[in-house]
Amino acid sequence: MLLPPDAESVIWLDNQFIPWHKAHLSVTAHHYGIGVFEGLRSYATDEGAVIFRLQDHTKRLFHSAHILNIAIPYTVEQLNQAQCELLKLNHLRDAYLRPFIFYDGLTGISLYTEALQPHAMIIAAGWNAKGYHQNNTIKTIKGLRLKTSSLLRCHPNSVFIKAKANGNYMNAIMALQEARACGADDALLLDQNGHVTEASGANIFMVRNGILYTPELTSALPGITRDTIITLVHDHGLKVYEKPITRDEFYTADEVFLTGTAVEIAPVVEIDWRKISTGNIGPITNKLRDLYANCVQGKMPDKQHWLAPVAHEKLHVA
Ligand code: PMP
Repeated sequence: MLLPPDAESVIWLDNQFIPWHKAHLSVTAHHYGIGVFEGLRSYATDEGAVIFRLQDHTKRLFHSAHILNIAIPYTVEQLNQAQCELLKLNHLRDAYLRPFIFYDGLTGISLYTEALQPHAMIIAAGWNAKGYHQNNTIKTIKGLRLKTSSLLRCHPNSVFIKAKANGNYMNAIMALQEARACGADDALLLDQNGHVTEASGANIFMVRNGILYTPELTSALPGITRDTIITLVHDHGLKVYEKPITRDEFYTADEVFLTGTAVEIAPVVEIDWRKISTGNIGPITNKLRDLYANCVQGKMPDKQHWLAPVAHEKLHVA
């Protein structure tokens, strides 16, 4: 989980590092959910802090902006460097980064976007060991219970699902609220054809007879953790297929787990009050959790290119 900022915390707003408590946004900012963002994790490793797959997250941010016709007023290098410097300034190692591109301008209260100015901010906050779903980090083990949502995942011709866009999260938040009100930990969202897409903020996999399956990306975010897992699975001689999957195929899977930057690899032990197999965390899920932990903590020599080092030294705050 995110740790709250303290009096010394600094954020990056439009190319300036400013104290968090002095960072204010205009009342004409972010109307209507047009904006894009990313979520990244940094990890403390034996060699110092690293940001996991920084290049890929920034690339997805630019793709999201392109899909929404937003011109990000900074370069990839500026945003990457700002994220590294933000961690240093805040003395953060195990942390979460949230770059965010939004609009501001007097016409922000109308539907016209032409005259709006794109802005960028990045926040960095400490991350404690409890993880996104409480007790589900790579360091702790407790399975999740999912509930199929009464809300469908948005159709890709209604909103653009490949963009990590602010407005898309209305659907996710409503589904998560419903799932939690029903006593589950997270929602399972279906598409218009009844196929499983993903959870509120994470991709989903199942294991059957030692083979992994995950929904195609038609109505799901192209998760970077999903891609990491697919790579690790191939590296370790396992097979993974993308295919349309119905919810009852998940009910009878041997293992199910979620993937996401925040959830990491989160085992699912129950869907719609049906146990997945014995209701215990399965061996392939456990193996992938270990592999993922080694990967993000810099213990995989062939995956060093996924780690952006953050050298901690003192910098000047404006
Ligand atoms: N799907 C959705 C809807 C998400 O918001 C996220 C990220 N929180 C993911 C999947 C997983 O993406 P990633 O692995 O890149 O964090």
